[in-house]
Amino acid sequence: MKRLSVLGSTGSIGTQVLAVAECHPDQLEVVALAAGRNTDLLIHQAKRFRPRLVSVASPHDAARAQDALSDLDTRVLCGAEGLVEVARAGADLVVGALVGRLGLEPVLAALQSRTDVALANKEVLVMAGPLVLREAERSGARVLPLDSEHVAIHQAMAGHPREGVRRVILTASGGSLRGASREEMERATPEQALSHPNWEMGPKITVDSATLMNKGLEVIEARWLFDLDPDRIDVLIHPESIVHSLVEYVDGSWLAHLAVPDMRIPIAYVLGMPARLPLSEVRPLDLAAIGALHFERPDPGRFPCLELAWHAVRSGGTVPAALNAANEEAVGAFLERRIPFTGISSAVRWALERTPAQPGFVLEEILEVDRGARAHAREWVEEHHA
Ligand code: MG
Repeated sequence: MKRLSVLGSTGSIGTQVLAVAECHPDQLEVVALAAGRNTDLLIHQAKRFRPRLVSVASPHDAARAQDALSDLDTRVLCGAEGLVEVARAGADLVVGALVGRLGLEPVLAALQSRTDVALANKEVLVMAGPLVLREAERSGARVLPLDSEHVAIHQAMAGHPREGVRRVILTASGGSLRGASREEMERATPEQALSHPNWEMGPKITVDSATLMNKGLEVIEARWLFDLDPDRIDVLIHPESIVHSLVEYVDGSWLAHLAVPDMRIPIAYVLGMPARLPLSEVRPLDLAAIGALHFERPDPGRFPCLELAWHAVRSGGTVPAALNAANEEAVGAFLERRIPFTGISSAVRWALERTPAQPGFVLEEILEVDRGARAHAREWVEEHHA
């Protein structure tokens, strides 16, 4: 039996993790859950899985959850402290599925308590890759991917000596504005940016997918997860989202991972490791029906966020943390209709130019850069919003 703690249990990844756990009650036990504001769903999940501990955002939500769960033996906590407690609740695997900067301290807490982490919350490695990996090395806990591309690479690299790897290629669907012109992007509404052709995901990552910032963050994530020099990582647009990523070896062989775009597949891989958990409800992959798979290079002129991410990963230190922080602010402002879609990359560039870089080996330094970059991104938003 593998015991799971889920950080972000009511979000897109969290609910799918629980859907997989529900199909395999003989192999997966849910011991702790943390949610944000969706207390109703958390209460429902707690009644279903009977975890020892749950955490919600505020004391008010905690009182409500406490009331609803009074007949269970479940402790209820809240806030940042609750997240950290869920991370160290004695699970075998912590699923890090929070969004953005919020996930950093709980992930560090899980690693410090020698618990493996499966990381869907990619901002954690983007902000603090060296710090997170150092914690993992100290405690012997593992940082496992829970992003479809990185789970694909993990499988394509399994059992192969690392010296044999020449390059890793991350695929990107191209998001909701793949075919849009600069002018169409200028006018794109949150509704348009949020209508992703292939994947059902939360709003922040769906906008990141439309700007290709998501792929940029994944390049940084791959750099740390697989200890790769950034020059050995490449990105290809693949609109069908069937090939999830590829590994090129020094002998010219390529290994690809193929599956229908359904997050339950990578989730089941990571939760089941080393076993394969059967997933009967997933739509089968029918290559004959799909017929052709397409690949193209991303257009740097239309997707400046990807270029900003390349700049950040090559610069190193706290530059990726600044990129991530400015992007979180800019995406929030776009979703609130305060800036246009194309303003996201402008706000991020503005913030990067004004946030001094630090080596980034200490949490305080990273958090200071995070705050600084957010403030600069907000400055840009204030100056430019209509
Ligand atoms: Mg991904």
